[in-house]
Amino acid sequence: MKSNIWRNIIQNTGLNGYCGLCGQFSTQATICPDCNSNLSRLVSACYQCGSPTPGLNHIEKGLCGRCQSKPPAVDHSVSAFHYETPVDFLLQSIKFQGQHRFIPFLAMELAQAIKQQSHYQTIDVIIPVPLHSQRLRSRGYNQALEIAKVVAKTLDLPIDYNCCVRPRANIAQADLLGKARLQNMHNVFAVRRLPASRIALIDDVMTTGATLFELAHCLKIAGANYIEAWVCARSGQLIDNH
Ligand SMILES: [Zn+2]
Ligand SMILES: [Zn+2]
Repeated sequence: MKSNIWRNIIQNTGLNGYCGLCGQFSTQATICPDCNSNLSRLVSACYQCGSPTPGLNHIEKGLCGRCQSKPPAVDHSVSAFHYETPVDFLLQSIKFQGQHRFIPFLAMELAQAIKQQSHYQTIDVIIPVPLHSQRLRSRGYNQALEIAKVVAKTLDLPIDYNCCVRPRANIAQADLLGKARLQNMHNVFAVRRLPASRIALIDDVMTTGATLFELAHCLKIAGANYIEAWVCARSGQLIDNH
């Protein structure tokens, strides 16, 4: 943040030992303690959809108005951070520039939030949100899977990456807004088999929730009883319905 020049150098060279945000030398982590302490952690949110909402918290299981009137298929959402600068920079660097070195940091922060906000020991399996095969080929990896690997190891939970597929390439959600995102999601996922009853879905970012709610919906139709959504960052973008 102190210097875009530093940031560009670090991005382009992938230097280790330097903070990925301010460029200062840091022996402790990819993100130095100063930058880490300034990141916006999500503490007030709807228990179910995870939408940032002042006054609501996971301890009291507070629900936003939309979840009270029309609950989504996800039963509980956990996010480590608000989706805002500079966390958005870290996540976009992973997704579009292959900056894998930020994955352990973000995934460990997510695991920490899960330990605090979820009875994760009751979860049977983690399912990373699948990418369509064309997008997987062009990107070379699925960031949700890479994050899930770290979380699964930290929490000692299994991953099932083959039970759900994305049989067709829908338009990139980032190009759509609100209800258009929901319409874009219909018939996007197919559940090939149900691996367990209590499931945690993992993705890098949750914006409207359309992607995670749709996958959860498909899994519940297939017989799942309970589904949590675990994401590194959650945006506050609101829509009329889920
Ligand atoms: Zn720093
Ligand atoms: Zn809600």
